[in-house]
Parts: sequence; C-alpha cells; structure tokens
Amino acid sequence: MHEVDQTTEQMVRSVLAYAENRLRMNPVPLDKGTLSATDLYKRLDGLISDTPRHPDEVLGVYASVIAPSVISADSPRFLGFIPGAPTKASLLFDMLVSCASIQGISWLEASGAIAAENTVLRIIADEAGLPDTAGGCFVSGGSAGNLSALAVARETAKKARKADEPTRLRVVVGTDAHSSIVNTLRLLEMDALVVETPDHRLTAEAVQKAVDAEDDLSDVAAVICTSGTTNAGIVDDLAGVGAIAREHGWWFHVDGAYGGSGIFARSIRSKYDGIEQADSFILDPHKWLFTPFDCCALIYRNPELARATHTQDASYLDVIHVSDGEWNPTDYAYHLTRRARGLPLWFSLAVHGVDAYREAIEVAVSLARQTADLVEAAPHLELIREPDLGVVLFRRVGWKPEDYDAWANELHDEGVAFIPPSKWEGETVGRFVFLHPDTSMDLVREILARTE
Ligand SMILES: *Cc1c(COP(=O)(O)O)cnc(C)c1O
Repeated sequence: MHEVDQTTEQMVRSVLAYAENRLRMNPVPLDKGTLSATDLYKRLDGLISDTPRHPDEVLGVYASVIAPSVISADSPRFLGFIPGAPTKASLLFDMLVSCASIQGISWLEASGAIAAENTVLRIIADEAGLPDTAGGCFVSGGSAGNLSALAVARETAKKARKADEPTRLRVVVGTDAHSSIVNTLRLLEMDALVVETPDHRLTAEAVQKAVDAEDDLSDVAAVICTSGTTNAGIVDDLAGVGAIAREHGWWFHVDGAYGGSGIFARSIRSKYDGIEQADSFILDPHKWLFTPFDCCALIYRNPELARATHTQDASYLDVIHVSDGEWNPTDYAYHLTRRARGLPLWFSLAVHGVDAYREAIEVAVSLARQTADLVEAAPHLELIREPDLGVVLFRRVGWKPEDYDAWANELHDEGVAFIPPSKWEGETVGRFVFLHPDTSMDLVREILARTE
C-alpha cells in the first residue's frame, strides 16, 4: 500500500480534528441562521472553481458560514418539530460507515453489514411482538417507509381483486395522520377514507362508525394508525383498529416514525398494545432512538409480499438474487443503492445496551409529565391534553399568534431554546417536544417563566 500524499494527510487531520471537536461538545450549541439567503450565497460564491483550493480554506468556510447557519437538532435546547439526539457512539460509527464505502444493496456485496442491521430490525420486531418471520430494511425516513409499505399494501390488495372489482383503492386514515400519508396516497393513486376523530385519536369506535356509513367497502385496501401523532404524540387505538382490519382483511399499517420507539419504555408500553397485529410498521431511529439522520426502520409481518412488490429486475442484477438465508435489503422498499444506515444504531445499541435506551426514552416521557404539571399549576396557562409521549401542548390565556411568535423568537435569539409554536384545532399554541435526555426541568421553568 502507498501512503497518502501530504495534502491528503493534512486534510485527514483537519477534518477529523473538526469532527472530534464537534463530537466532544457537550452540549452542542443551539445556533441560529443569521445570514440572509443573499449573504449566504455570496459567501459561498466562487468557492468551487476550475482550480483546487486548500482543504483548510474550504473547511474554514464550513466552520464560519455553513455550520452556524444550521440549528442543531441535537441540542438539549431544541424543543421544536421533532428533535434528534444521536448518541456519540452512533455518530462515530456513522463516520466509519462513510469511510468503509459499504454498498448496502445486497447480501452478495455486504452480508456482514446486512446481518448486523437485521439483528437490530429483529430487536425492534421482537419488542413490537411481531412474528419471527417479520423483517424489512432501513430506509431514509418515515416518508420513504410509509410509501414503500403502502405500495406493498396496494399491490397485495390488487392481486386479490376479482376482474370486475374496482382497481382504484381506498385507505382508512384518521384526521391526524402525518402529511407524508397524504402525499403517499396521492402518489399511489389511492383515496383516503377519512375518519373524524373527536379526540384526535383513531379508535375502533370511530372507524366502525365511518365503516357503517359506507355502502361498499370492497375498494378498501388498508387502514393506517399512528403511534403517536407528530403534533401531539397521541397513540391510536392499535388493538381495536387492528382487529377491524383483520376482520375485513385490510392491510394494517402502523406509522410510528416519531413515537414508535415508545415500545421500548415500560411505563408507556401498554399504549402500543395491538401493534403486534401490524402488517407493516415503521419507526424512525433518527427521531426517538438516538441515531444520526437519516434512518427509518421498515418492518413487514410477511416480507415476501414486500419482495413481490419491490424487487427490481435487470439482467446485471441477476447475480444478487437470493439463495437461502440471504437477505437483500433492496428488495423491501423503493430503492436500489442504499447506505448501511442501520449500522450506527447496531454499534450504539451494542455499546450501551438496550436498557440505556429504555431509560433515555423514559426521560422524555417524564419531562413531558412534569411540564404538564407545571402548566396545570400556572393560572395563566392551560394544558391542551394530557401528554401520551414526549409532546406537551399548552395555551397562554390571552395570547394572540404574534405573542407566541415573539416569545419563541426571543428565546431563540437569546440561545435559550428553539420552541416554535404549533396549531391545535386552528388555534396557535405553545408546544414542547422532549426527546433529548439532557434537557432539564430548569430549562422548562425558564421557558415557562417567560410567558408571565
Ligand atoms: C416524522 C414523521 C414522518 C416522516 O418521517 P421522515 O423521517 O421525516 O420522512 C411520518 N410519520 C410520522 C408520524 C412522523 O412523525
């Protein structure tokens, strides 16, 4: 082997030093984009040219322009949207996965990586109570997972159609299903049978009522539950809705992109009863399973149905098609080339042990409960709903939307917290999302004090 040249040698040192520094930050800075779009493009303009530039110069631009213009989703002060909180172990291993150039398509190319990823999928499937035959793959995110799973639901239903039955299919969904479900149904040319959910939770009663009002259900292919909803963390009635799905022969999909990881937390595990009936289940480790972006676990009860939908045929791919015990992740979702994005989670789970994950998830649940108590005790605040998971929605009596915006902007400007308001039944409200295990109740008290 040759040694790398001197420029490469220096670049390795500079970039790794930068990465090391970021990895050692505890906590990471929240940051806020302060440059306008015009300024950003001006600062980056001309950096890529026909001629080389010293790596340190380019890294300097990353450090001074790009990095500060990115809000750190893994700051314990990041309490908006859905935060991330990757473990140091998973971040480190993500770098290793990049260096190793692992093509995660097929057993032929990456059997070791795929076997390791599958042990992680197995742990998740076992926790959900899915059968030993369950399996799937890691994809980029919940949106890709929902699309791939519902494509299988549709193809499976279509194959079961009789010649004279309609081919345009419907899917039963609650009003609070994630926006990616709406897009998925549009792309797959399926229609939503939308079930009104008075309490924003899809229940067996609500589905039954909607079903009773329909003359013809022969075009219904699937029903989707959310565990839990992104805006409020509400876990649908998986047992009840799953039973209706089974009775009608519908595909039962559970979207746990945000809250699916709650199956690992003993104090809330019973909320997920019924998840074991799922035909497909997704969970984003890049949300509540402490893994770097981008990573979604997609699991099917019967992976053969997914293979029948997603396997790509091309003469040059013939060599990768399976023999016994082999597993080609490419066959289980809409993708071909894929990063072995489950490996950082594999490494971190092994290093920390599953119990540490259970405890870290419980921290967020506990922060949400304590915050709900503080809100209820404050005369000027109102709790919108008892939290199921890590989300707390609250109302500041007398505030208009612009008051919430001003409060949130000030908190972000001062580096205290990122906590953008949300909406509940059309009304602007405050919203905490707890996920980072290092978020403190002192921070919550400081944020709430600013509403006085
Ligand atoms: C975040 C989320 C998604 C989308 O996941 P991405 O990883 O952002 O694509 C889908 N469903 C639910 C319930 C979510 O919370």
